[in-house]
Amino acid sequence: MSYQVDDALEVAEEYEADGLEFCEAIYRASINCGADPKDVFAEAGRRRREELLEEHKRHLASTEWAQTRARKLAECPHCERCKTSWSLQVHHRTYVNVPREEMSDLEVLCRLCHEEEHGRTFEKETEAERFTRLCNPPGNKEIAENIRRMLRAKTR
Ligand SMILES: [Zn+2]
Ligand SMILES: [Zn+2]
Repeated sequence: MSYQVDDALEVAEEYEADGLEFCEAIYRASINCGADPKDVFAEAGRRRREELLEEHKRHLASTEWAQTRARKLAECPHCERCKTSWSLQVHHRTYVNVPREEMSDLEVLCRLCHEEEHGRTFEKETEAERFTRLCNPPGNKEIAENIRRMLRAKTR
């Protein structure tokens, strides 16, 4: 990452704006700092994903999650795939409702089925990529759409 991208993000963040206003701040700061807005938007997205991942790690260590997890295991005391009750874990099918998961967002899996589930998706993906794919936070989608709109308008 170039120092121009870093500078532009620092300037944009000083506005403490959200959504489209933040996009505008990024765009203006990019031009002023001599950075390509596309690079700056990409870096802003990467940082947001990192923040979300950190938030999620904190959630997994919370009492709230411990309670949700216990409720799911009480509801389904066996692996939903192979039916064993050995070494049960609670898997997130989706992260969209985190930290207030619906019971249907979760799946009880034994350790082996859980490893198999992740073996399929984890091999080629980093943890951050997987999280982004499953989570796809509405806020990010909105920002992405605003960015596309703005880049189209500015290159016309
Ligand atoms: Zn199983
Ligand atoms: Zn899992």
